[in-house]
Amino acid sequence: MRLPGALGIIFGLPLVVILLHLLTNENYSIKGINLDWEAVKKQLPNSKDQLWALCFDAQCWKVYLIWFVSTTFFDLILPGKHKKGVQLRDGTHLAYNINGKSVSSAFVAVLIARLFLSPTYFVPELQFVYDHQLQLILVTVIFSFLLSVFVYIASFIPLTSANGVGTKERILSVNGNTGNPIYDFFIGRELNPRIGSWDIKLFCELRPGMLLWLAIDLACIHNQYHKYGSVSDSIVLVTALQAFYVFDGVLNEEGCLSMIDITTDGFGFMLSFGDLAWVPWTYSLQARYLSNPQNAVHLGYIRIAAIVLLMGVGYYIFSASNNQKSAFKQGKLDHMKSIKTKTGSKLLCDGWWAMSQHINYLGDWMIAWSWCLTTGFQTPITYFYVIYFGTLLLHRQMRDDAKCSDKYGEQWEEYKRLVPYKIIPYVY
Ligand code: NDP
Repeated sequence: MRLPGALGIIFGLPLVVILLHLLTNENYSIKGINLDWEAVKKQLPNSKDQLWALCFDAQCWKVYLIWFVSTTFFDLILPGKHKKGVQLRDGTHLAYNINGKSVSSAFVAVLIARLFLSPTYFVPELQFVYDHQLQLILVTVIFSFLLSVFVYIASFIPLTSANGVGTKERILSVNGNTGNPIYDFFIGRELNPRIGSWDIKLFCELRPGMLLWLAIDLACIHNQYHKYGSVSDSIVLVTALQAFYVFDGVLNEEGCLSMIDITTDGFGFMLSFGDLAWVPWTYSLQARYLSNPQNAVHLGYIRIAAIVLLMGVGYYIFSASNNQKSAFKQGKLDHMKSIKTKTGSKLLCDGWWAMSQHINYLGDWMIAWSWCLTTGFQTPITYFYVIYFGTLLLHRQMRDDAKCSDKYGEQWEEYKRLVPYKIIPYVY
């Protein structure tokens, strides 16, 4: 059952990304759920040669490789704080260079320089992204596939002092080490694949995909401004809200070191595709939809204020609860009510963490709603993100419940008795 699921995701999710593109671009406007399949099909290649040309467009590959290599270069050379990751199974801790601040500053500086170097504020790179969305989607999907093949093969090469990464041996992920090559390739065989001290997983999680998502949003505004002479308040709002979220993630990357993705999940196709292709192309769906003048939404001050308020409250819950747990784990909130576990660590059952077992997920989901609401109520397609993200959070809650139950046993059951709601207080 696990293998068909993995195969379904490997082939199915890239098709979802492509379908969403076909439904939300400048040449296709969807109202309600009335799909005009003929118009959708017209956008597809009608020969193998055309498909090949789309998948292997030399210019798009060049642009994407420059993007990936330059984000890697910035990641490697820019200064940051040195932080230790959580303790691994062999007792070691990996060292991370936390340089989100310098990487974000470099990204913004390059963007501003590009913008002001042109007297008309025309940035060819942004327009290129807008004009080659389908080709770039295919490039990111194929690239993420190749990267997962690379890390899967590398996971079999024993560590030596020459290729040492900081651990005594390669730490394999518990779930991705079943011996079934397709399943392990999908889930990720190695926990933290690295080249020297460069951590591929943390890099992919927060650099090329997240920043590309923001670049796509900006490319949509750029296209609207240069092609139609003005920009709608809705596209500016969704880009501003998402830019805030992207920079918040990149600037607070230390928080990621204790996230399930880094501590528990292997790095395989699921994360590689998720980080490099799924995040930039599905999270930018609202801006891409709004970039079509036929879908234009004028929000006005009242609706803008309501959406900003929703995002603000969601962000407050998300960040205050995550910060509280993080401060508690660092021993800064010892006065708060907690349960001592058999592993020696404590479970916080006070403050935000008395309201529900994952109150931080509720905040994140409210943020998701605020982005989707910028597209008005013309079609449910632009609400894909809240549905997908809600499902992801439910699945994460179940996985985390199984993990904590395994790790903390009776004390986790006691925590659940004290804090019965899983995500939404008094509802679920
Ligand atoms: P959590 O931040 O909820 O972390 C769960 C872990 O925290 C548990 O495994 C356990 O780990 C510890 N823990 C759980 N309850 C307690 C408690 N009461 N007291 C002390 N420790 C506890 O989950 P995630 O890592 O999944 O998510 C982190 C954030 O990232 C969330 O805000 C989420 O919304 C966001 N996110 C965003 C995504 C996106 O695409 N935008 C995708 C995924 C997540 P331990 O073993 O250390 O005790």
